[in-house]
Amino acid sequence: MLTTALLLATSTFLTPPRALQSEAIGGYAAGCLRGSMALPLEGPGYQVIRSKRLRYYGHPDLIHYLQGLASRTKMAGMPDLYIADLAMARGGPFSSGHRSHQTGLDADIWFRMADKPIARWEQDAPKEWALIDEPSYRVLPGRFGPQQLELLRLAAKQPEVNRIFINPALKAEVCKRAPDEPWVAKLRPWVGHFSHFHVRLRCPVGNPDCQPQAPIPPGNGCGAELASWLKDKPQLPRVSTSYRAPTLPSRCEG
Ligand SMILES: [Zn+2]
Repeated sequence: MLTTALLLATSTFLTPPRALQSEAIGGYAAGCLRGSMALPLEGPGYQVIRSKRLRYYGHPDLIHYLQGLASRTKMAGMPDLYIADLAMARGGPFSSGHRSHQTGLDADIWFRMADKPIARWEQDAPKEWALIDEPSYRVLPGRFGPQQLELLRLAAKQPEVNRIFINPALKAEVCKRAPDEPWVAKLRPWVGHFSHFHVRLRCPVGNPDCQPQAPIPPGNGCGAELASWLKDKPQLPRVSTSYRAPTLPSRCEG
């Protein structure tokens, strides 16, 4: 009896704890995240910036994607990536900044790259590194070169990437330089994004409550759709002004 009890007790300790299932719940702009992973603040080929905001958590798929991208850019001879906001430890809406980034599947990456730590003032002054001149919406000379195009190519080509939000003036640059490459369709024009692009991954396999986004329209998006964004460019707000806190799925409570 004693032996059996002892065996049972021992086996309880020997059984590894059941791993917490990582799960993206709800929509990109109304959801949350369970079992998040933190992106280490630095690693081969990248540095996390603005880490004081504690927005460096994500679904493991996102963490692995970012680490993989950083090693690919490093192998391509590029300097370190500056990775900004992912999500908070449990996802959900930020108090400021973006509407999305709620399910741990979104990440902001700067176009600027460098092999040195970035000073605190520079981290908070992305305007210094803007690629776009704001009143004219012209791409500033020398800021979107072959390296930035290659960065977008490496970022967008991965099958787990659903789409990348990018300033319309930069999408127009890509359309000029690489219109026939299939990944160009994933670049979606959006307001703002003067110094960074925003990667969004697909819903991970086995996350039944993750709400996918509508598919990207057919074509490379370089035609009428882009033209309409560029036509309206002087009116494009930096961020939308009318914003109400979203209703989150019930599974996000508690
Ligand atoms: Zn973003």
